[in-house]
Amino acid sequence: MRDLEFIWFKNSIISSSSAQVNILSPTSQYGLNVFEGIRAYKNFNQDDILLFRFDDHIKRLQDSCKILCIDMPYSKSFILSQIIALVKANNVVDDMAFRCTIFVDGNGSWASKGPVEMFIAPVLKPRSDVKHINSLSACISSWRRLSDHSMPPMVKCGANYINSRYAIMQAKNSGYDIPIFLDSFSHVSESSGSCIFLVKNSTIITPTVTSSILESITRDTLFHICSACGYPVQVRDVNPTELYLADEVFVCGSAVEIAPIVKIDQHIIGDGSPGLITIKLLEQYHSIVSNITPDLNAWITPILQ
Ligand code: PMP
Repeated sequence: MRDLEFIWFKNSIISSSSAQVNILSPTSQYGLNVFEGIRAYKNFNQDDILLFRFDDHIKRLQDSCKILCIDMPYSKSFILSQIIALVKANNVVDDMAFRCTIFVDGNGSWASKGPVEMFIAPVLKPRSDVKHINSLSACISSWRRLSDHSMPPMVKCGANYINSRYAIMQAKNSGYDIPIFLDSFSHVSESSGSCIFLVKNSTIITPTVTSSILESITRDTLFHICSACGYPVQVRDVNPTELYLADEVFVCGSAVEIAPIVKIDQHIIGDGSPGLITIKLLEQYHSIVSNITPDLNAWITPILQ
């Protein structure tokens, strides 16, 4: 992943090194911002970059603003036009990701409603390499996932990621790549920045949206892929022991795409290598994001065409 020079910040395209926010602002002090990480994939046939599920990311951004009582000042078409301008300013045609963040600036308290500002920061981010899949180890975290009783996990707010930080620091300090959170009822929830699936006897199983997860767009994409491939899907409460005994386990998200977990705590998952179904789902995912699956082209927004 590599940062690009130009970002969109408070109505202009500037070098990222010259963007400044008030140190006393609610975004700086309390993490009062909402954001989306939106992927864009190079289309090798047409020399274009394709935003993946842009409409769904903007809808989730609007929903996050709604719950936090932040007036979202920018329309979907305006944000798209600024992403197009950014790609042109950075002069790149490659796999990318855009961090689109709405934040509360000024020097008010955590209850402050404005001024509301936005930045869009692009990075170069290649799609994962199916031939050299990155296998992950995970531990069940002793930290619980934040819950709808206090900090709604469906809101993609900067401050929520402090909960993720506790768990990922614990996992890494214990020698694992990522944590797996349980929810307040001891059911499997999600990881620190991705949702989780398991495969058992060719059935694909994932926790419900009431298990303190972010309602992941990649998770939804996987439902379509599983249905097209003929894999039954169960969305239900999941116990931790089911993960230990699964044939395959993987996490999914816009950043990680689909990545296998081959060890959880002291238990090897399956035969300890990426599962065949996980690999197939990742291949299908790549064909959708590259617009090779034309019936799903409503999910694709070309940037340069
Ligand atoms: N859970 C959390 C906590 C996340 O931050 C993300 C990444 N946005 C996900 C799940 C996956 O969501 P999506 O597939 O929409 O990127």
